[in-house]
This record gives sequence, C-alpha cells and structure tokens, in this order.
Amino acid sequence: MTNQAITITTVKAKKTKPDYNELGFGRHFTDHMFIADYQVDKGWFDARIIPYQPLTLDPASMIFHYGQTVFEGLKAYATPTGEVNLFRPEQNIARLNRSNVRMCIPEIDPNFALTAIKTLVELERDWVPTAPGTSLYIRPFVIATEPFLGVSPSTQYKFIIILSPVGAYYKEGINPVKIAVEDEYIRAIRGGTGEAKTAGNYAGSLIAQQKVAKDGFAQVLWLDGLEKKYVEEVGSMNVFFKINGEVVTPELNGSILPGVTRQSVIQLLQHWGIKVTERKLALTEIVQAHKNGELEEAFGSGTAAVISPIGALSFGGEIMTINDQKTGPIAGKLYQTLTDIQYGEIEDSFNWIVKVSK
Ligand SMILES: *Cc1c(COP(=O)(O)O)cnc(C)c1O
Repeated sequence: MTNQAITITTVKAKKTKPDYNELGFGRHFTDHMFIADYQVDKGWFDARIIPYQPLTLDPASMIFHYGQTVFEGLKAYATPTGEVNLFRPEQNIARLNRSNVRMCIPEIDPNFALTAIKTLVELERDWVPTAPGTSLYIRPFVIATEPFLGVSPSTQYKFIIILSPVGAYYKEGINPVKIAVEDEYIRAIRGGTGEAKTAGNYAGSLIAQQKVAKDGFAQVLWLDGLEKKYVEEVGSMNVFFKINGEVVTPELNGSILPGVTRQSVIQLLQHWGIKVTERKLALTEIVQAHKNGELEEAFGSGTAAVISPIGALSFGGEIMTINDQKTGPIAGKLYQTLTDIQYGEIEDSFNWIVKVSK
C-alpha cells in the first residue's frame, strides 16, 4: 500500500461545528474518517476517506473476543499563521507498528500512514479548533475483523483514523493533581503488553482508577508488576521526579509505554543542561527524598495534558506534598516550551513539527 491512492467520498452536508470553548475530550467527531482493509492474500488495500459513520462488523469479529487491536493518539494544532502542525507524527507511526508487531497485526507502511493522517486532517482543515489550548485529536487504530472464534491472529483487519476536536486540557492554567500509589493492582508486567498501546491494558487499569477516584485522586501511580517496588507510570502518562537537582524517569523496561512526550521532555532537559536520568526508581527512594526535603518536583507527560504536575502523592495512608502543590519551574517551562513548539509560537529547533497544510 506504499503509493496506493486514497479515494475520497465527501459528505453531502457537513455537521454543525461544536462550540470550540465547550469541547471537552473525545466527544465530537469530524465529518470524515479514513479506512483501509487488510487480507492476507492482498495486504493492505482499498484506502479510502468516507463520511464518518458506524462500522458494520460480524459479531464473530475477533476484536470483540480476544482484543487484538492497537491505537495511537496525536494532535493537529492550528498556528497563528493559519497552518496546521503535527507533532512528531513519525514517532506515533513507528510506535503503532511496534504495537502491531507485539499484537501479531500486520505492519503499515509508515509513509502511507503519514499520508493517510495528513490527507484526512487536510480535508477536515476547518475542524482544527483555534481557541487557546484546543486541538484536533487524531486517533488511528487497527482492529481484527476476521469472523472466527479460534484463538489465533486474525487474517483480516481494518486500519481506521478518526478525528476529534478537543478542548484545552487546562482551562484555568496548568494545575497540579493528587495521585495515589497503587499497591494492589498492576498495569503491566515485563513480557506482557505494557509497552504496546493496546486496548486490554486500559480495560485492566480502570478498576484502580475507579478505586482512588472516590477519595479525590486524579490518577494512580503504577508500580512494577514483579516486586511492586519501582515506579512505572502515572495513569496513562509517563512520570518524572526531580530529586536533589536530578530529573529521574523510569527506564523503558518492557512494561512502560514509550511516550513521545517523554522522549521530547528528555531531549529538552538535555538541551537545557539539566541532568536527566532514565533508571529504575524505587518508591522508597521517593519517600526518602520527600523526608529529606529533596523531592523538588513530580509530573506526568503525555499527548493529552502535555505536562501534568503532581502536587500530592498518597502512599500507605500518608500524603506527601510536593512543591507546596504548585507547578514547579521545570514542569512549567517544559509545558510552555512544548506547547509553544506545537502551536508554532516559537522556532522548532528540534525539527519536531510536520506541516499538514501550508
Ligand atoms: C499514550 C500513553 C502514554 C503517553 O504517550 P505520548 O506518546 O506521550 O502521548 C504514556 N503511558 C501510557 C500507558 C499511554 O497509553
């Protein structure tokens, strides 16, 4: 499907656009969607953009039974000069294919996947919201569609891209959240599927989130699945701690999702000459650093929030307050710099931006 043309069927009547100040996340969808099909004998074929519509699937489709599926999440940003920016989309596509390999799903030509994203976003140009902090969320995903109840890799798939205009994550400015350490459930384990963006990881994590939400915690801090000793991620974000001048993030160990934002944070910190280390980080080290007054900042990183400062961490009945529950200088500078690059407010000196339209 490398150079295969994408056929485009446009809608007869466009939807009314939602109020761009009341978007929320993932509730509104644009007029069109992208689909390509896969069959073993044909490879990926019939790439098309069609009006946004429900799918018709056989109830025996393997996605419904064994969860053979992967997804991605990235955003398109409107710039002050009327262009549309994508942030490191090749990283998302590379990760999509790594997830595909893990889930026994056929890979997708990366150039074709980027063309598909750009073509769809370009067609939906007027859905890229322009209110501050808003963006067009891009959700590529693959589902197994062979109607078969045997446990084996499907021989048929659909690669789909949908678009959703999303609101500003921080309506009243970047704001620290309270997090609870999760010591009962685990998200992922080495050798499992934690480093793939696949549905089951998220289904399995809901119960932990539900458990702490009633006590006012925004998310859980996940520990490693083997010893429940080392920190791994926070909710669906990667996590960073600044301890005594050094920024530490858990090393990619097979159960951590390799975030594009995480990688960008590491590169920015290195560029600024701030010491950043990827290593195993024990929860006890964080507790000790807090006791010693050396736990300076903590924050999550991910496409949705970009940077999410952690103001308080609950563990074993105690609450550790971090940086007086205020956004720390590093978290604040990272947030500002990343969003300024994404929205085209400052020079893209890392070459992270891919233009959709000129
Ligand atoms: C998507 C995701 C992240 C963040 O990845 P980004 O590429 O930065 O958006 C982190 N952890 C989990 C579990 C995720 O699903």
